[in-house]
Amino acid sequence: MVKNRLKAFCHALEIEYVGIAPPGPYFDLKEILESRIGKGYYTGFEEKELERRIHPALTLDGAQSVIVCLFPYFTGDNENANLSKSAFSLDYHGIIRQKLGQIGECLKVHIKDFRYKAFVDNGPLVDRYLAYLAGLGFFGINNHIITDSYGSYVFIGYIINNYPFEPDKPLDRTCVQCGHCVSACPGCAILGDFELNPLKCLSYITQKKEALSAEEIEILNKNHLIYGCDICQDVCPHNKKIACTKMDAFHKHLMYSIESKELDGLSNRAFKKKYGNRTFGWIGRKTLVRNLGLLRRKKE
Ligand code: SF4
Ligand code: SF4
Repeated sequence: MVKNRLKAFCHALEIEYVGIAPPGPYFDLKEILESRIGKGYYTGFEEKELERRIHPALTLDGAQSVIVCLFPYFTGDNENANLSKSAFSLDYHGIIRQKLGQIGECLKVHIKDFRYKAFVDNGPLVDRYLAYLAGLGFFGINNHIITDSYGSYVFIGYIINNYPFEPDKPLDRTCVQCGHCVSACPGCAILGDFELNPLKCLSYITQKKEALSAEEIEILNKNHLIYGCDICQDVCPHNKKIACTKMDAFHKHLMYSIESKELDGLSNRAFKKKYGNRTFGWIGRKTLVRNLGLLRRKKE
């Protein structure tokens, strides 16, 4: 009953994909993460404490379930873009944080002593795994969560909470395993067995603030984006003929590229003022200028 109300409220907030993941601990995920760490497949952007990644109650005392929501963001292709599709709209973190907060506050009204903590990219748990557990999508070899309606162009937000919502069931399927993402990946980061080496992923490389190695610069120059990378999603058959997002906020204030002339002479403070509300704003002017410079060198 409460779950139906939750779903109805989410639909009113334009959230079509909402599901419930169990409260863990997720011991099968722990094994996967330990294996990845053993192989060096981590970037440092992840939560450092392994236990916190598999155990929601370490983040919210008395956690009994996790509400997981997907936020489709595909609004069409733009061949002149030098930003990834995830960065076309205003900063999605703010858009999603607001919606998750509305859900949490609504549940507080209807459930006695309800407590929650909401996250989008800033939480300790593994959001794609949660989306899988909540039955919202299935894994692709490219490591993305894929949905039938919107493909893999979805952001994930989640709410750890102390109400025992009945968990949903994971889907018993994977992508069609065509291998296109494996052969198209500029960094050879997709290993073909549902494993990914994030250190070779261009998306990570464009966001890395430290100096890039010669190999990383070579990977950067295999594409033309200065923020992110969409290749393994663009080539995926599950992303053909998908619907554009119905979420209004992802259709507004769209921006597809930044050129050097817009950043030259801009102070860091002016950059923050101008682009602080964009998804790419957090990486800062210096990193974008570096990426633009490295790509410009390729053109010359
Ligand atoms: S985002 Fe780009 S670099 Fe990263 S895995 Fe996908 S295709 Fe490879
Ligand atoms: S491109 Fe092919 S192999 Fe890669 S995720 Fe999509 S369906 Fe799977």
